[in-house]
Amino acid sequence: MTEKIPSGALLARAYAETPGLPIEVCHIGPDAAQSLADFARAKCGATCLVVSDENTREAAGAPVLETLARGGKNISEKVLGGGHVDATEELGDEVAEAGASSDFLVAVGAGTICDLAKHAGTKLNRPVLAFATAASMNGYTSGITAVKVNGLKRTTPCTPALGVFADPAVIAAAPHRMIAAGVADFLSKCSAGADWRTANFLRGEYYDENALRFYEGILDQVLESAGRVGQGDPEAAGIVLEALLLSGLSMLVAGSSAPASGGEHLISHYIDMKQALYGTSNDLHGVQVGVATIHCLRLWEKVLALNPMTIDPDALVAVQPTDEQVQTWIEADWGPVAGEVLAQWRQKSLPGDLLRAEIMRFRDHLPQIADAVRRDLLPATLVADTIRNAGGPITPDEMDAPLDEYNKALKFARYIRSRFTILDLAAELGVE
Ligand SMILES: [Zn+2]
Repeated sequence: MTEKIPSGALLARAYAETPGLPIEVCHIGPDAAQSLADFARAKCGATCLVVSDENTREAAGAPVLETLARGGKNISEKVLGGGHVDATEELGDEVAEAGASSDFLVAVGAGTICDLAKHAGTKLNRPVLAFATAASMNGYTSGITAVKVNGLKRTTPCTPALGVFADPAVIAAAPHRMIAAGVADFLSKCSAGADWRTANFLRGEYYDENALRFYEGILDQVLESAGRVGQGDPEAAGIVLEALLLSGLSMLVAGSSAPASGGEHLISHYIDMKQALYGTSNDLHGVQVGVATIHCLRLWEKVLALNPMTIDPDALVAVQPTDEQVQTWIEADWGPVAGEVLAQWRQKSLPGDLLRAEIMRFRDHLPQIADAVRRDLLPATLVADTIRNAGGPITPDEMDAPLDEYNKALKFARYIRSRFTILDLAAELGVE
């Protein structure tokens, strides 16, 4: 047993140690609705737009609306449909229109509702307060929105929420698949952190160890409480949400999603991009990320188990795909947006001599790299067991996404974004 840390203590520590965070408060507790209303009374204007969908309004709308009204706020509402709501730019603009005469916005929901409200708040230059209804992803505290523009999902910088509030009982009552997805999205930091550290070592990319301090102590708690998450335990749900809020803060402080988004996220984005372009199915972000994290951790295990003596840079460079081959693959995958994807790939593809130097640098520093990334990595089996205990899928055939797209993503997702990840390193080293 790890030492019991009171709920919210790690968030409180993060705030105490990091003056000037743009999100002024993150509060998890049974009094979350009251806390939001008190914060709004102290910090926000007289009129507000409450944004929700039919499901999240049913789950948590009443206490938020009542406490805001008791606090004297003049409330209008934007309630989106009860089915699948897509975070599109048009819908975000519609929310902005509805909120044009409000002093602030309140998002009652999870990823999609928060993204729409943050998009609108940024456009209107009005503060957004988030009342979380599920612990399914780490976007509540992020400074980006994932909104579809012309059918394609784009992550765009935005003004972060001014305050984030959550009641563990509401979070625990959300569908179990959502919180299991949240556990998986959080655990992806193991693989993403190793990718980020290695991108810094091999390619000199920006890295900030400081961003990782938010994770201290919370990982053990998530590993320990995953089983209770699967049983709908509010305390465990609060821990997962706290972990996700800390994960979002780490991205905010890094000024980049890199501490929480590596090769596993590219695999998930690949499936989402196919959905956006061709209408194929996709699953919750965290579900896809979890299955892909297990894959990436296995790749890491194979890469770190290589014997440097057997790494032959010339032979490896000789079998890399040519630029023409990659271009053909990208055109086949991405048709109308192939040009944009190709531009991402070309930002990180290396000519033969530099690729050879990179492989040599890896070979010559393998023990040193292994020591460093072990601070980030967890065993693939431990992550799989934890996601399973939380009630989430751990194999590709359990996801609501086409198996052939997932299998293609394992090979081709590295081409969709300029970020260097384990997918690149493994491909360069001939590891599958
Ligand atoms: Zn994520």
